[in-house]
Amino acid sequence: QPTLTVPNSPREITDLGQAFNELLVAQNQRLQHERQFISDASHELRTPIAAIRGNLSLIRRRGDAHPEVVPESLSFIDEESLRMQHLIENLLHLSRADRAKIELSDQDLSYLVLQLGEHYQPLLAPQTLKLAVDSNIHIKGNAEMLQQIIVALLDNAHKYTPHDQPITLGLTQTDQQIQLTVADLGEGIPDDQKAAVFQRFYRVDQSRSQAIEGSGLGLAIVQQLVTLNQATIKIVNNHPHGSLFTIIWPKN
Ligand code: ADP
Repeated sequence: QPTLTVPNSPREITDLGQAFNELLVAQNQRLQHERQFISDASHELRTPIAAIRGNLSLIRRRGDAHPEVVPESLSFIDEESLRMQHLIENLLHLSRADRAKIELSDQDLSYLVLQLGEHYQPLLAPQTLKLAVDSNIHIKGNAEMLQQIIVALLDNAHKYTPHDQPITLGLTQTDQQIQLTVADLGEGIPDDQKAAVFQRFYRVDQSRSQAIEGSGLGLAIVQQLVTLNQATIKIVNNHPHGSLFTIIWPKN
């Protein structure tokens, strides 16, 4: 809690005025971010709703005379409502993670990563998932959130990489830090957009991402969960191409 002291010199009055001004600017920025977020979320929800209503109207108008339009329209409605469901789930994740005060406890990260990797190997087939996990690495964290982070990164690697190219899930430690990595051999992320992909609703090059299902919320959620687990995340270019996501826990 800031303490309120009565200023007793012109200098202190100026300082107080400046501090107050900075507070107002920060609050204004927060409000603007929130407004932008609500507007982006509404826009994203409007698209599937329009598609659902359009197809319902088509079934009503033409369904009797042309029953052959019904199955295709129903499958559109199915797809779009599923998209809406994912979007709403992601929005809920974001708002929960915003407020979350989580209990961190000792986690055997080696065991958790290996278990998850082995579970995902058959699900990603025909793409191969290579595991390079050192044993006996422990951190303080939240198991459910750690799983969510890894699954989101694996899911992206799978989505944005040709399926004949492998993904690698790795865990190593040095004296200074613990590193969890997800590496792929896809198109990669341009340097000038590496920070932006963690923003809500941001997708690299709409035309490139359009063919691939997604809302641009996954990495914003990952970023929040990583921070809640007292780690940092960065992206570097993989070799010879692709993305390498690294989550780092400093050792103290
Ligand atoms: P989305 O739902 O669009 O996948 P994300 O927040 O998970 O949303 O990712 C944001 C954007 O970052 C994606 O749209 C994509 O353009 C880019 N991206 C994320 N992961 C990768 C990756 N492994 N390889 C290439 N591009 C990626």
